[in-house]
Amino acid sequence: ALTQQPLLTTRSTREWQAADAAHFLHPFTDFQSLARKGSRIITRADNIYLWDSDGRKILDAMSGLWCVNVGYGQQALIDAATRQLRELPFYNSFFQTATPPAIELAELLAEITPPQFQHVFFTGSGSEASDTVVRMVRRYWDILGQPQRHTIISRKNAYHGSTMAGASLGGMGAMHAQGGLPIPGIVHIEQPHAYQLAREMAPDAFGRLAASWLEDKIIELGPDRVAAFIGEPVQGAGGVIIPPDTYWPEVQRICDRHGILLVSDEVVCGFGRTGHWFGCERFGTRPDLMSFAKGVTSGYVPLGGVMVGERVARVLIEQGGDFEHGYTYSGHPVACAVALANIRLMQQLKLVERVRDDTGPHLASLYASLAEHPLVGRAETCGLMAALQLVRDKASGTPFPPERQVGLLCRSHCFANGLVMRAVGDRMIVAPPLVMTRAQVDEMGALIRLCLDKTWADVQHQGWR
Ligand code: PMP
Repeated sequence: ALTQQPLLTTRSTREWQAADAAHFLHPFTDFQSLARKGSRIITRADNIYLWDSDGRKILDAMSGLWCVNVGYGQQALIDAATRQLRELPFYNSFFQTATPPAIELAELLAEITPPQFQHVFFTGSGSEASDTVVRMVRRYWDILGQPQRHTIISRKNAYHGSTMAGASLGGMGAMHAQGGLPIPGIVHIEQPHAYQLAREMAPDAFGRLAASWLEDKIIELGPDRVAAFIGEPVQGAGGVIIPPDTYWPEVQRICDRHGILLVSDEVVCGFGRTGHWFGCERFGTRPDLMSFAKGVTSGYVPLGGVMVGERVARVLIEQGGDFEHGYTYSGHPVACAVALANIRLMQQLKLVERVRDDTGPHLASLYASLAEHPLVGRAETCGLMAALQLVRDKASGTPFPPERQVGLLCRSHCFANGLVMRAVGDRMIVAPPLVMTRAQVDEMGALIRLCLDKTWADVQHQGWR
C-alpha cells in the first residue's frame, strides 16, 4: 500500500508552475490566463484522494476526468502493466498480426457488452472512437449501395471528443467556432435538457417531446439521407444531463422506424458509471455501435474503441473488403492488459452491482437532501454521476445571470476545501470513483454542503438575491 505521506517532490510548487507556464500548453485553456494564475500540481493519488505539490489532500469527486472508476493505486492494474511492459511493450495489429492481450480483451468485451456486440475496433482514445464511428457508419451505407445515407444526427451540448470528427459530432458552439467545424454531413438537434427547456413540463411528456425532435429532423432531411443518430446516454461534459426515462426508448423506436443506425457514446457512461455495465442497458436501447474509452482502463493508460454490433459487423466483414482505417495504438498490448485487469477487478469487487444497489441509491438520497439547500434548484443523480443546478430563486427556478459566474465561485470554494467538483455554467457535477464507499459518499456530501453554504454566504453578501 502507498503511504499516506505525500512523496517529496524534487521541485517547489512555484518552480513546477514556472516550468509549466513556460512550456506546457494545456487542453481547453486560456494559456495566458493560466500562466498568470499558475497550475495546481497534482503529485500523487490513492483510492479516491489526490495530493498536490503542497501536500494538500483532495477528494477527487470527478475520477480524474470521468475515468478512474476503480480508484487510484490498484495493484492489479500496476502489475498487469508491469508484466506486459516486460513481456511485449508494443506490437501492432496491422499486417496480419495480433497480440494476446488485444485478443483476450476483445473476447472479454464481447462477453460483458450487450449480446449484439461480438466485435470491437480498438482506438487510443474516445475522440478516435468518434472518428471511427463517422468513418464506419458511412462505410456501412456505402457498402450497402446507399452512399447518399451520409448525414449523422447528433445533439446540441453533446460532447464526443476534440478531433475534427469528434468536435463536429459534439454540439459545443465554442468548439465549432474554432477550425471551421462541424465537418459536412453532421447536424444537431436540441438536447433533452428539462431544466433549460421545459421546467414546468411532466418528465415523461418532455422525454417523448425531445425524442420527437429527432423524427422531425429525419423527415426534414429525408430518411434515406440519414446514416445514424449518436448520443451519450447521459450527457457528461454537457453537465450531467439525465434524460427522462421515456426519451431513449422513443429514440430507439424512431431509429428502427427509419432504419437508421443508433450509436451510443459510452465513453463516460460505460463501465459501471450508471449502475449498469453500459448506459444503454440503463436506458433501454439496443445500439448498433457503442464507443468507449476512459473507464475501460480506469484511465491508468489510454485506450478506447468501438463495439460493432452484428448488423454492421456482418456487412463490413462479409461484403466490405479493406476498411481503410486504424491507428498505431489500435489494440496496444499494455493498454489491453491493463483493461483486462481493470474489468476483472470490477467483476471481483462487484462494482457495478454496488453502484446499482448500494452507493448509487445512497448518493440519490444524499442529493435529495441537498435539493433542500437554498442555492439548489434541482438535484439529479444517475448511478454515481450527479448534478446540482444552482439557482437565484429556488421557488421559480430562475437562474443567476451568467456573468455572475456562480458556478465558478462554488468551484473555487471546492478547490479551497479539498474537493474536486466541476462547474458547467451553474451546474455543479460529480462522477466519483466507483470504489467509493457509503461513508465516502457521506464525506463527499459534507464537503459539497460546506461549499454550497460558503457560496450561498457570498451570494447573499454580494446582494445577488
Ligand atoms: N465522448 C464522450 C462522451 C466524452 O466525455 C469524451 C471525453 N470527455 C470523449 C468522447 C472523448 O474522449 P477523449 O478525450 O479520450 O478523446
